[in-house]
This record gives sequence, C-alpha cells and structure tokens, in this order.
Amino acid sequence: SGYHKVLEENRKLYNQVQDLKGSIRVYCRIRPFLPGQASPSTVGSIDEGNITIVTPSKSGKEGRKNFSFNKVFGPSATQDEVFLDTQPLIRSVLDGYNVCIFAYGQTGSGKTYTMSGPKNMTQQTQGVNYRALGDLFKLAEQRKGTFIYDIAVQMIEIYNEQVRDLLVTDGLNKKLEIRNNSQNGLNVPDASLVRVTSTMDVMELMNVGQKNRAVGATALNDRSSRSHSCLTVHVQGRDLTSGTILRGCMHLVDLAGSERVDKSEVTGERLKEAQHINKSLSALGDVIASLAQKNSHVPYRNSKLTQLLQDSLGGQAKTLMFVHISPESDAVGETISTLKFAERVSTVELGAARLNK
Ligand code: ADP
Repeated sequence: SGYHKVLEENRKLYNQVQDLKGSIRVYCRIRPFLPGQASPSTVGSIDEGNITIVTPSKSGKEGRKNFSFNKVFGPSATQDEVFLDTQPLIRSVLDGYNVCIFAYGQTGSGKTYTMSGPKNMTQQTQGVNYRALGDLFKLAEQRKGTFIYDIAVQMIEIYNEQVRDLLVTDGLNKKLEIRNNSQNGLNVPDASLVRVTSTMDVMELMNVGQKNRAVGATALNDRSSRSHSCLTVHVQGRDLTSGTILRGCMHLVDLAGSERVDKSEVTGERLKEAQHINKSLSALGDVIASLAQKNSHVPYRNSKLTQLLQDSLGGQAKTLMFVHISPESDAVGETISTLKFAERVSTVELGAARLNK
C-alpha cells in the first residue's frame, strides 16, 4: 500500500542519512576540453576517488601529484551521473536535515555548469539546482498521505562582503543582514522568500535571479564570477499523524572564482574584489577544515559566507563540496592549488586513502 511504500522509503532514507550525518564529502569534477581547445590534459589518470595530475617541471621532466577524494568525476561524466551521487543528501532535507552543497574552482572550470547547467540548457544538461528541487517535489508528492510539505526558496549574492537579494524585482541596492539561530530558520529574514510548487516556478525564479546577477556586469567585469551566489531551499514538513513539524534547509552555493589574482597587476575595485574573495574562501576552508578535524572552536564569524551557512555546516548538517578543475595544461598551477584546498577540507585525507599514497 501507499503507506508501506512511504515507510519503506523512510527506512531507506534513514540508512542513507545515518551514513552521511555530520560528514564532509568532497567530489572532484574535471570539465572536458571545450570546442576548439586542443592541449594535452593535466590529468594523468582517474581511478574512483583518486586523481593524478601531471605537472611540467623546469628541467623538462614531468612530475606527478596524487590526490584522493570521495569521488572523482572525469570529463565524460554526465549531469545525471553527478546528480545520482548527490541525491541521498538532498532527500534528507525532507527529514529535517540541513545540507550545504558548494561548487568551488577557478573561473571557467565548470562550477555554474554543475550547479545550474550550460547556457542553452536541455533537460539532460540541467544542473544540481533544478534536479534537487525537482526531486524534492517528487518525493513530497509520494509522501502526500503522511506528510504535508511547504517548500520555499531564497536566492542571494555575496559581493564584496555585502549580501543582496537576487529575487527582488525592484532595484537591488538593499543590503541584507544575516542573523544566526533565528527561530524560524531564516537567517536572512529580509530576503524575498518565494514558495514553489513546481519545476516551472523554479525555472522562473532562476531567471529572475540570473538577470539580477548580471546587472552591473560588463564585458570586462563579469561580476558573477566574483560573487558567491546561494540558492537556499527551506522545507517544512508536517507529520499528519503526530502533528510534528520538521524543518530542513539546503544551501546550493556557486562560489566566486578561486583563482589567485596577481596583486601587482590589479588595482582599485578589482583588487578589493580579489581581497574579499580570498578572505571568504579561506574562511570557508578554515571552517570546513576545523569541522573535518572536529575542532571545538569553528571560526564561522570570519566572513559573511560562513555566517550565512553557519546553521548548515557542522553538527548534524551534511556538507558536499564539488571541486572543479580545468583539464588544460596552462591551468595546472590553479589546478594544483584547487586540489590542495580541497584536500585540506576533506576528511578522506585523514583516513585510509592517505596510507595508499
Ligand atoms: P565557472 O562557473 O566555473 O566559471 P562554467 O560553468 O561557466 O565555469 O564553465 C565554463 C564553460 O565550460 C562553459 O561554457 C560551460 O558550459 C562549459 N562546461 C563546464 N563544464 C562542462 C561539462 N562538464 N561539460 C560540458 N561543458 C562544460
């Protein structure tokens, strides 16, 4: 019967949730060469969670560096495959868990592709954001007889340590405050909160958000790569039998490009942006690393980004970081520094994988 199906589904979810609770997972994704690009790949080999990067050296001899993560997706991995390994995490939001999913990497490495999708998106190339919400709707529908769910989203941007609402339709200059531990779970209470019931609703909102994000950007100043954008999904479920209310929240974050900027080459606005990005990405790295090491003090207060995500990092929350790398050999410097960052925040390194190196 429907009821037993729900019970069975719950049991499956419960097991998956127990698996993931409090954990920090790191998935690495390598984007394919883009049309017209031809250059030897920096990727020597991929084997499940292991990746080898080939580094040129001055003497002309190649070096090899190995890194281990929970999973490595090669250039031919599809959006479907990537989502399949993300799905259990997303589903646990319906059971009242908080989840954070990040896309990290240098500009052009595929962060937006993973989270949203490419410019001319088809159903097959839809990114994690659309799939996640589609999945939540589907599951909520399946549980209809036992739970009633309310799903609402917010979309904000952090640029130069200022928080802006991306779902406003009238001007963008309102600066928003972050409040942690708020009663209703809304830590940016003044950002638009929009109830969604279908994938169509989500599509429309994403369009509004993307348009707002593009405001202020020029050809030379692609602001979207220098701001963090965050789609937050708030889920409230009421158990029809007991009346219990469950609240879960999921942050889907497309981070600013992680590339280091040469300080001698930039000035003014560009330098300021670079310093803000640098500061917030290191703050994020510090928070995740300290959670991975189970430190008692976690430095959430060091950036707006970590303040925003505080309730969804650590504790019972589940964190997934997609680290993106480009295959081109001229990106090898950034690739190595991206993978080092990822390894620092990863629990894998502390475990068995390290022994195999
Ligand atoms: P970022 O958000 O990191 O700046 P993008 O997601 O915009 O990077 O990706 C840069 C370019 O590479 C885009 O044209 C994008 O469509 C393409 N791309 C990225 N990842 C993939 C992939 N896995 N498969 C095909 N094209 C990709």
